[in-house]
Amino acid sequence: MGRVQGKVTIVTGAASDPGLGHAAALALAREGAKLVVTDVDVAGAEICAGKIRAAGGTAIALQHDVTQQTDWDRVFAATLEAFGRLDVLVNNAGIAVLKPLTDLTLADWNRQIEVNLTSVFLGCKGAAAAMRAAGGGSIINLSSVAGLVGLPGCVAYGASKGGVRLMSKSIALELGKDGVRCNSVHPGVIWTNMQAGVGGGARAAADRMAAHLPLGRVGEPSDIANCIVFLASDESNYVTGAEFTIDAGMTAV
Ligand code: NAD
Repeated sequence: MGRVQGKVTIVTGAASDPGLGHAAALALAREGAKLVVTDVDVAGAEICAGKIRAAGGTAIALQHDVTQQTDWDRVFAATLEAFGRLDVLVNNAGIAVLKPLTDLTLADWNRQIEVNLTSVFLGCKGAAAAMRAAGGGSIINLSSVAGLVGLPGCVAYGASKGGVRLMSKSIALELGKDGVRCNSVHPGVIWTNMQAGVGGGARAAADRMAAHLPLGRVGEPSDIANCIVFLASDESNYVTGAEFTIDAGMTAV
């Protein structure tokens, strides 16, 4: 039996490879979960679902803009139609609008907040109803080290991720009695397409940034996927309202 055998799981933002949602979806499927992988990039989501099916797992891919209520309604309805229940939601989709305060426009701010924070509100709200009906569940929200400490260039991004952190704790308090757990995950510098974009595409730039960290290396998507599998599984049954920092010690100072 896998660690998340039979658990019906939605992972948003699963197209990007290398990306945290893509890696988490594959890791969850290896441990027996049934996957609904979603993304605005539906072709990328289809590739992720195809990899899972080719390895003998179960997955469907759906087009999904996480900022849109109607898209969430369609994704939850399709999940229940395909699998009859929802056990796990991984709110992973996100963008990084990294600009100094004085360069940040109102449009930048609004876009950052709607993609990284409003989306998580919409996902958690819909999941709460489905998970209550299933008798419980696990919501896993991707925040960041930028949701824990201040970082230059992260005015809007940090505000969105700090919001995800505290929203997760409030949701944990509200839904605990229904058996629905909610936790946040805080990656540091992990090698993905988003990280490549931050550093101009060069792995060497990320390696230089990570060299001073206590563990001295850039993280891999599997480093985050391992934590997501734990939070999705019954191994974390007594864990809610908690934050999981996976950053090679970056914020330990
Ligand atoms: P990525 O850019 O590689 O992948 C993000 C995915 O989200 C893409 O597939 C993209 O198409 C999708 N997406 C973007 N906007 C969307 C929308 N409106 N609706 C649906 N899908 C959308 O990013 P990643 O590095 O894998 O990051 C995943 C999550 O982890 C993000 O929330 C990010 O902020 C967070 N994070 C990443 C790092 C890191 O170092 N990589 C560090 C801290 C936090």
